[in-house]
Amino acid sequence: MSDVTLFPALEIPETLAAGPGPGNTDARVLAAFANAGLADHMQADVLRGMIECKEMLRTLWGTTNTFTFGVGGTGFSGLDCMLNAILPGDTVVVFTNGTFSGLDALTIRMKAATRAELAAAPMDPQAASVTVIEVPHGESVAGKLVDKVLDEVKPKWAFMAHWETGSGRINDLQGFSDACEKHGALGLIDAVSSLGVEDFSIDDYPGVAGWASCPQKGVLCLPLTYAPVSFTDRYIEELTANGCHSYVHHPILEARHWGILDGKDAKAGSYHRTHSGYAVAAFHEALRITLQHGRAEKARDYAFHECALREAVTMLGCEVTSNMTSLVVLNLPGALKGREKELVQMCRAESFGIWPTLSEPVQVRIGILNQITQSAITDIVVRFAKAMEALGADVGMDAVQLQLARSYSVAVAAQ
Ligand SMILES: *Cc1c(COP(=O)(O)O)cnc(C)c1O
Repeated sequence: MSDVTLFPALEIPETLAAGPGPGNTDARVLAAFANAGLADHMQADVLRGMIECKEMLRTLWGTTNTFTFGVGGTGFSGLDCMLNAILPGDTVVVFTNGTFSGLDALTIRMKAATRAELAAAPMDPQAASVTVIEVPHGESVAGKLVDKVLDEVKPKWAFMAHWETGSGRINDLQGFSDACEKHGALGLIDAVSSLGVEDFSIDDYPGVAGWASCPQKGVLCLPLTYAPVSFTDRYIEELTANGCHSYVHHPILEARHWGILDGKDAKAGSYHRTHSGYAVAAFHEALRITLQHGRAEKARDYAFHECALREAVTMLGCEVTSNMTSLVVLNLPGALKGREKELVQMCRAESFGIWPTLSEPVQVRIGILNQITQSAITDIVVRFAKAMEALGADVGMDAVQLQLARSYSVAVAAQ
C-alpha cells in the first residue's frame, strides 16, 4: 500500500469559457445532470427522454429525417458515425479551410484508404480515391469552386464544414448542396459549430445526405454527452446496401436506442449500448433551452452581440478576419504581432479562456457561446483590453467603453 499515491480530490476552477467551444454550460443543464436519479439505460423515463430528445432534435435541425439522434461523445464521435458510410476505395472530394475540416479530411482519408494505402502511412494515409481541395485559412469555401471540382471528379461523396471554427469562416452551404445535387454526389456536412447558433433547416439542402454536430458548442450541453446527427433516406439506403466497419458508430444500429427500428419510429428504444441517464437529462434540458429561446431569435442574438464584440476589438486596433457569429478570429495590432500565444496564455492563467488558432497562421479566437448579453460581452472586451494593455499596447479604454455603449444604445434606440 505504501507506494500508492492518494491524490487530493480534483478541483477544477470556474472559468469564463470565451473560446470556440465548449461554451459556458447553462446552470439549468448542470442542474439537470446533477438532479437525475440513479437509473439504468433501459429505465422507462430514460428511454422516454431519449425519444423526446430525438423529436426536439428534428425541430432544431429543421428536418423530417427519421434517422435523427445523438451519438454518445463529442463532435468527432458524431462525425465518425456519419463518415462511416465511406468505405475503402470510395471516391470523395473534401474541401478544407482550417483545422477542423483538415482533421475531417484525415478521418476521410483513413476510411477511404485501401489496406495497402493505410499500411504505407498508417497515421496519415494518402488515399488515391480522395481529392482534398485546400482553401486558404481565412477564406470561405465558395459554391462555384465546389461545382467546378465536382464536375471534374464526379465523386460518390463530397464533404465540407459548414462553419470552420479553426479560421472562423462560414462556407457556402447552398452552393455546396446545389453542386452535390447537380453532379449526383452524396453531400456530408460538419455542422459542429453552426447547429444551435445559425437559423437553418437541413431539409432545405437536399444535396446533403448526412449532418453531424456536437453537444458543447451551439447546443450548449456538456461535452461527452450527445453529438446530434441526421441522415436522409438516401444515406440510409447507401448504408443498408453496403454496410460499414463499425458496430458502435453504425448509424442504423446506434439509432436503435433512440427508438428508430426498421427505419421507423418505435414506441421505445432497444439496447445498443449503455447510455447515461445523467447525459440524457442534461441533453434534454439543453434542447429545451434552445427551443424556448427560439432558433431564429437565438441566431439574431448571436449576430447582434458578435457585431458589438467585433466593433470593440476593431476599436482596439485588431483586425477581424472571421465571419461566424459565435466567434471572432483576429490579428493583433502591429506592435503585438508575434505575441498572440503569450497574450492567450496570460488570459487563460487568469481564468479567461480565449484561444489561439490551432494551425498556422497564429491568430487569436474569442468566442461568445452562451455569453449573449451586454454585460457578458462588456466583461469579455474589458478583460481582453486589459491583457493587451499588460503587454504594452496603448489601449484607449474609455474609447472602447464608449464604442460598446454606442453599439448597445443604438440597438435599443432602433427597437
Ligand atoms: C469543435 C469542432 C470539431 C471537433 O469537435 P469535438 O467536440 O472537439 O470532438 C469538429 N469540427 C468543427 C467544425 C468544430 O468546430
